[in-house]
Amino acid sequence: MWFEHLRQRLDGLDARDLRRRLRVADSGTAPRQRVRDPQGGARELLMFCGNDYLGLAAHPAIAEALAEGARRWGGGSGASPLVSGHSAAHAAVAAWLGEAFAGHIPRARALGFCTGYMANLGVLTALGDAEVELFCDQLNHASLIDGARLARARVSVYPHADTAALAARLAASTAARKLIATDSVFSMDGDIAPLRELLALAEAHDALLMVDDAHGFGVLGEDGLGALQLLDLRSPRLVLMGTLGKAAGLAGAFVVAQDRVIEFLLQSARNYIFSTAAPPLLEHAVLASLRLIQGPEGRRRRAALRERVAQWRAGAQALLARHPGLGWRLIDSHTPVQALVVGGNAPAMALSARLEAEGLRVPGIRPPTVPTGSARLRVTLCASHAPEDVDQLLHALERAALSAALEVA
Ligand SMILES: *Cc1c(COP(=O)(O)O)cnc(C)c1O
Repeated sequence: MWFEHLRQRLDGLDARDLRRRLRVADSGTAPRQRVRDPQGGARELLMFCGNDYLGLAAHPAIAEALAEGARRWGGGSGASPLVSGHSAAHAAVAAWLGEAFAGHIPRARALGFCTGYMANLGVLTALGDAEVELFCDQLNHASLIDGARLARARVSVYPHADTAALAARLAASTAARKLIATDSVFSMDGDIAPLRELLALAEAHDALLMVDDAHGFGVLGEDGLGALQLLDLRSPRLVLMGTLGKAAGLAGAFVVAQDRVIEFLLQSARNYIFSTAAPPLLEHAVLASLRLIQGPEGRRRRAALRERVAQWRAGAQALLARHPGLGWRLIDSHTPVQALVVGGNAPAMALSARLEAEGLRVPGIRPPTVPTGSARLRVTLCASHAPEDVDQLLHALERAALSAALEVA
């Protein structure tokens, strides 16, 4: 019964061309990566799909800090944080984060989680009890959606970035407590949530504002502190989630909020309490990464990243202007997440395949991940891309646009 059912489900994915496949990499991401193909060969691809925005995953200081951490601490933490897994290395990371965000969140304190996915589930399930209403942007990341589903709170999904619609729902809500949850940088479009307006709404309606800064931490703001720094937000109502697997080049996540919120999470976030703490060697390296992010090296890398984003946007806009008949469009974004909307599923996937044949990995994204008719290439840029790398992508797209234009004609 079971096996036949599962075969049918998998066949259904194949029939709709939706089967996802794991690919094996033979090297780190830097931004070229050796990737095995299904036939057993291996090729080096120029990647425009990773989230290692500052290129820190390949930084020698990070590898050295991991080795140093391993020599000092050995392997795993051996237990959950409240039992005996919370090391001085974990405490140092939390202290650094608490201090770094003190200007944005009064009495800021940090709590570490093993992944961003876990952090979002932990926060929403702990805070979202049955007396709470959660207000979620329609384009929120899957981990916020899953957290909202698992929470006992009532959930209200508002249209993307629509603060007027949200205001109306907040005003109509009879819940005892309210929490607004949003991505800062939306992962498929790269646009930034109207956080100032959302915070004003949170203040007006006595709500908390949870900001998932997975794509902003390390990237946005003068010191790389992310969206709160970019937009100069300050409030005790902010609950910030940042990941360490993206711009920080490692793994893990943190939540920063005012002391009392964090103390409550420590007492009640089940996936914090009942899961083994991250290895201390990782925390040792995270501290090194945080220092790089905040220091001159991070600043240099953020400047390089901004240049690559500007170069890509100028080049892509010129390309679209040369080929208006294709109906391609570039979503307005000044973050490293750049979406080139193609439209139909088949053309978007064909474009992605064509780029890959030319040695460039740029994933095509289809519904249901994005709305019907907006299948796209999702291009991510990082500080380790050279200007020539971005040119290589633009040239390959130009060739693809020329042949697509011939087909249209
Ligand atoms: C990647 C991502 C997460 C999950 O973080 P992990 O550390 O990879 O689990 C959460 N939210 C958003 C918006 C993300 O892009």
